[in-house]
Amino acid sequence: MARYTGPVCRLCRREKTKLFLKGAKCDTMRCPIERRPTPPGEHGRDRLRQGSEYNTQLREKQKTRRIYGLMERQFVNLYDEANRQSGITGENLLRMLELRLDNIAFRAGWGSSRNQARQLVRHGHVKVNGKRVTIPSARVRQNDVVELSAKARDFIVIRHNADVLDRRPPAWLEVFDGGHSARVLALPLREQIDTQVREQLVVELYSK
Ligand code: SF4
Repeated sequence: MARYTGPVCRLCRREKTKLFLKGAKCDTMRCPIERRPTPPGEHGRDRLRQGSEYNTQLREKQKTRRIYGLMERQFVNLYDEANRQSGITGENLLRMLELRLDNIAFRAGWGSSRNQARQLVRHGHVKVNGKRVTIPSARVRQNDVVELSAKARDFIVIRHNADVLDRRPPAWLEVFDGGHSARVLALPLREQIDTQVREQLVVELYSK
């Protein structure tokens, strides 16, 4: 599956907010948003103006998509699925994004960013219910147990993240086994998802 490989800080500058795509760097003064909060490009400053309603909805969709690291087609497919489910479409969408395997590895504190967590999955270092799964978009279900492979537990980067990140798992995710395993206790509710997005605007955009 294709993925964005360009400069990620540029994405934050385009959305004029921190999307936390770089791990530890995001919390330091080296973050470009701290030093240069204007959108990228020659006419970046012009983009600071308040846009139309459509533009606001579009930016919110792009922000959501970029935080979770999806390409447009993947995101649209996920939205369609969320729309077909019962309940509130925006909440369904966020729940499905949270239950992606790469996001679980990120929430458990194994990766400093979703990109790093995705790489752990891609390289076969994450198991679901004892089986190796290498698809970052694989959806984890309630009561599934996700764990790091024996080899990955000794990685310096994993140990470093455990020491430095001090990330608290959300209420719907139990991290145990010395931080090397995680169980999905329940499907995440909207109030348990701390991602700063207004999902209603995404729904409005795709409902046009
Ligand atoms: Fe975004 Fe992090 Fe880069 Fe700052 S350091 S611009 S938050 S990715």
